Amino acid sequence: MRYFKYLVILLALVSCSKDIYRVSKTSYKKQAKVLGKSLKYIQPDTLNNKVITVIESQNFSLRKPNFIVIHHTDQDSCEETYRTFALKQTQVSSHYVICDDGTVTQMLNDMLRGWHAGNSSWRSVTDLNSVSIGIELDNDGEEPFSYAQINNLIWLLENLTEKYNIPKQNIIGHADVAPGRKTDPSALFPWKILAESGFGIWYDETKLDSVKLDENFNSTKALSFIGYNISNLENAIYSFKLHFNPTELSDTLTEKDKKILYLLEEELLKL
Ligand SMILES: [Zn+2]
Repeated sequence: MRYFKYLVILLALVSCSKDIYRVSKTSYKKQAKVLGKSLKYIQPDTLNNKVITVIESQNFSLRKPNFIVIHHTDQDSCEETYRTFALKQTQVSSHYVICDDGTVTQMLNDMLRGWHAGNSSWRSVTDLNSVSIGIELDNDGEEPFSYAQINNLIWLLENLTEKYNIPKQNIIGHADVAPGRKTDPSALFPWKILAESGFGIWYDETKLDSVKLDENFNSTKALSFIGYNISNLENAIYSFKLHFNPTELSDTLTEKDKKILYLLEEELLKL
């Protein structure tokens, strides 16, 4: 009898979760259909009360993503993340979720604007959601990222950058594009390993000791040149260190950080 009770609860949970995904699947198709229909017409035909003439061209395709933003989910399991992104009231989503065991799940078509980056900027690009693919890594923020997860992340990056011709340096973290607001992926994320596979940017560590900083070297300008929004300098420094010097995390720049900035600038100028 007791087991029967547990079985009923288990079945209820299973049917409940199935129901959540059925609702989101129907809603996804409906919204995609409305979007598709809206593309049939050139809108608006007026702009600030000035009428714009419409003559349709037949040469077009969909816009392509140009950045990839990496996140950690800050949740306890992939199931929890799927539910978060499937439910309407959460108002958040991502194109891909990669679980601890390496399982890759796609939740949005790459061409759709996901809701993962929020208020964000990188170099002169504002609104990263409009130009990026979001990849969420199942991680609670305190555990290391698994080998299988990073391996499949690199596999996914290889495929997406090739498919959409995304510049390899345009693989960035949520914290990079939203300083002061976001701190993911965590300090344990292996940016250096990613860079060794050709994704994102890194600096030549062998040069670190020999760098002689010119007195005119402007570290704030270097942060901005790399891409950080420097409107709040301390926040920008914290995000920079989270990415490039996470073992000495703070919101002030040390001599070593300035040298890293100098070397990063050097790397970017080579591109
Ligand atoms: Zn995030």
